[in-house]
Amino acid sequence: MTAKVIVAGAGPVGAVLALALARGGLQVTLLESERVIEDSPRAATVHPSTLDMLGDLGLMNEVLARGLVCRYFDHWDRPSRTLIARFDHDVLRDDTAHPFVVQIEQHKIVGMVLARLGSFDDVDVRLGSRITGFEQDVSRVTVTAERDGETEQLTADYLIGTDGGRSTVRKLAGIEFEGYTWPERFLVLTTAFDFQAEWDCSFRSYFADPDEWVNLFKVAGDDGLGRWRAVFPTTLDEADEDALSDAAIARRLSKLALGANPAAQLLHRKLYRVHQRVATSFRAGRVFLAGDAAHVNNPIGGLGMNCGIHDAVELASVLTEAGPSADHAALDRYNTRRRPLNVEFIQQQTIANKKRLEEKDPAQRQARAADLAATAADPRRHRQFLLRSSLLASVAKAKTLA
Ligand SMILES: Cc1cc2nc3c(=O)[nH]c(=O)nc-3n(C[C@H](O)[C@H](O)[C@H](O)COP(=O)(O)OP(=O)(O)OC[C@H]3O[C@@H](n4cnc5c(N)ncnc54)[C@H](O)[C@@H]3O)c2cc1C
Repeated sequence: MTAKVIVAGAGPVGAVLALALARGGLQVTLLESERVIEDSPRAATVHPSTLDMLGDLGLMNEVLARGLVCRYFDHWDRPSRTLIARFDHDVLRDDTAHPFVVQIEQHKIVGMVLARLGSFDDVDVRLGSRITGFEQDVSRVTVTAERDGETEQLTADYLIGTDGGRSTVRKLAGIEFEGYTWPERFLVLTTAFDFQAEWDCSFRSYFADPDEWVNLFKVAGDDGLGRWRAVFPTTLDEADEDALSDAAIARRLSKLALGANPAAQLLHRKLYRVHQRVATSFRAGRVFLAGDAAHVNNPIGGLGMNCGIHDAVELASVLTEAGPSADHAALDRYNTRRRPLNVEFIQQQTIANKKRLEEKDPAQRQARAADLAATAADPRRHRQFLLRSSLLASVAKAKTLA
């Protein structure tokens, strides 16, 4: 018998999960509280391991058409304007069908997946439908959702919370979200200023600086014309409105351009709170968590959405194999594999990335830069670095877990 699944939240993780389930022949209801998919600047970096998965789901032509292929990953020292290391994903050509990153905004992935879901008879996508409650017994889950002021109840074999960091499903399931929130916030500025012309840098470039690190990314934009995102930390005592002020933005961006004024071409500004948290369990009976509902991390490394898509693919495979009346051991495989992988490959790596960028001690800074340069210069270490940063090492490790 075919299992029926309710997916709560149509961000990139919920959308990809719904598609993977539908392709496995399961019946899917996808509930999304918003009527319009949010397009604020969040994930843009899609790593080779995730591209392999999106390729398996038949999405690669569209991803390549709407994103920017980015072969290199740069690490710079900003005060001295020195390139410390340039990593080349092409060294992964024997490890992946996609030895490059694609810079593509997450709302584009959601949009293309929702369009695909329209062609499945057994998929029901409900925008403007917010999950507000659920109950479960040994054989099914009953979900309460609100849409247009009306309350409705839906039953299914499984419920999956892909409803983001503030997940209602996680809270209703009583699952703790262990970890902490960083005291600084991250400021994301989007500008049409061409940082590649200024720095001769790659589309994905990290700049260490003891005073204020910054990361630069190029994305295509909805118009395909190209634009840059600059991500900065705020200072600890900086009020949100001060960080978002024209003066603070001009000051921050001017440090990235000699004599030019990137703020004059500003397109967007947004401030984010940043957390390192992992749910104590990714499963409670017939209810699962995936993506930001299960884990959140700082965005240095571009790993949160990627890891969430890996969750989605794994969970779709578990539920497709398990069918409606699966036993505990079959269902728990998802939790016992995905949770430790998140801690090892996402939490540890993003915390280390942040430390490397913000290091203040001159001797430590020099040692970290020297190590990065030596890693890039050694072919074996160069490949190992990229296997880990691209989550191909996580995929390999997953295969070794029961
Ligand atoms: C500045 C920044 C840059 C980032 N860059 C990267 C990057 O380059 N690469 C990367 O991998 N990750 C990156 N991330 C992380 C990435 O944005 C998240 O990991 C990703 O959005 C998680 O996707 P999700 O689908 O789990 O959750 P979300 O994208 O948060 O989607 C959750 C969805 O659930 C809906 N929802 C919420 N509550 C309910 C409810 N009660 N009922 C129904 N629907 C509900 C919401 O409306 C939303 O559509 C970045 C994050 C930030 C802040």
